[in-house]
Amino acid sequence: MKVLKFGGTSVGKPERMHSVAKLISDKDQKIVVLSAVSGTTNALVDISDKLSKGDQNAGLAAIDALMKPYYDFVDQLYSTDTAKAKGKAIIDAHYTHLKSYAGKAFSEKETKEVLAEGELISTKLFQEYLVEQGYNSVLLPALEFMKTDADSEPVLTYIEEKLNALIKQAPDTHLFITQGYICRNHQGEVDNLKRGGSDYTGTLIGAALRLEEIQIWTDIDGMHNNDPRIVKRTFPIPELSFDEAAELAYFGAKILHPTCIRPAHERKVPVRLLNTMQPEQKGTVINSKTSDREFTAIAAKDSITAIKIKSTRMLLAYGFLRKVFEVFEKYKTPVDMITTSEVAVSLTIDDDKNLDKVINELREFASVEVDKNQTIVCIVGSFGADKTGIVKRIFDSLQSIPVRMISYGGSENNISILIQGDHKAETLNALNEGLFFAEVVR
Ligand code: ASP
Ligand code: MG
Repeated sequence: MKVLKFGGTSVGKPERMHSVAKLISDKDQKIVVLSAVSGTTNALVDISDKLSKGDQNAGLAAIDALMKPYYDFVDQLYSTDTAKAKGKAIIDAHYTHLKSYAGKAFSEKETKEVLAEGELISTKLFQEYLVEQGYNSVLLPALEFMKTDADSEPVLTYIEEKLNALIKQAPDTHLFITQGYICRNHQGEVDNLKRGGSDYTGTLIGAALRLEEIQIWTDIDGMHNNDPRIVKRTFPIPELSFDEAAELAYFGAKILHPTCIRPAHERKVPVRLLNTMQPEQKGTVINSKTSDREFTAIAAKDSITAIKIKSTRMLLAYGFLRKVFEVFEKYKTPVDMITTSEVAVSLTIDDDKNLDKVINELREFASVEVDKNQTIVCIVGSFGADKTGIVKRIFDSLQSIPVRMISYGGSENNISILIQGDHKAETLNALNEGLFFAEVVR
């Protein structure tokens, strides 16, 4: 069995829902996770905002604006009068339910209930479409199996047990539909897995049931080897390891959030990223295999601050690094890249909220230089200590680029360099050509 997750744009229009139905029409056993129709969750956030501020009229107007277009949606989604009537009844019921929140006390609990409406609506509409088309599918209520504990962590054993029980109740079907994003918390209240959480639902289901594969369907053709907005010749990476994916995700590559990958990684269930617009493409598969390929991908993170800290004492002082890091710890500022020399250390931070305080304190025992608007370029691949020629290829590619810091050897999967933000496009392109397209001369 596989689990397939379709995001908001994949179900964002009636014709997109038709395409999703076609994509899942084979006889393989599967669980299909859907997001809310695109734009709906944002609108629900806005509605909750207005209602929690006590602005009933604005809240009601926002509910109208969200719900009215759904009648057209239903009209185009179905072709028979029976299905259209059922679809209209679904919208009527949710419309009435949403309006019932106006004028009542509205707190955190109600907000979460309102936010859950998007996925409840999209899955009901889709299930009704499948029924109209003669599919034998069953709608599994996520609120009956998706659960988080007191720390808001999903409870995998509970999910496994409940989901298996629900599936057993429908022995005659091979197709299950369920809601992404929504869950119940440890108090049994309606809750959610945070914005964008439908991916997480998908990976949690795949991991809990130890399924064959987790498929995340979006509108891009997998994970690219470099940023296609900046670099011309990019291509989808056919295969990458969980560790490589984790490095890339941190650097903001358009890929699953690190939290979403974790359950799949832990239970070694492959995650495949696929494109609803080009379903025949292979996309990208993330799995536990390590590849012998050297370079996998390049990603970049902007608005980085570099800090050079030089000991005012002297050579061979011990305890210097401890003192330095204590300052960052005190101001809850995570440090990303680090390079050291005998008398100085350079490091980077992403969050410069407390930068002034950090600097003042460091200046009590060190000289400090700060460079803003830096970019970390992260090269991901397999860089085991036994490999040769890797550094040469990177350095050759960077021939004409001023480099501020280099970090190599921190992990087998990551080499990071720090450059001035202005040089980002040039750097990404140079590395792309040098690492992925140049002939290797050793
Ligand atoms: N509908 C939710 C959101 O927009 C969850 C998701 O789409 O992943 O955040
Ligand atoms: Mg998403």
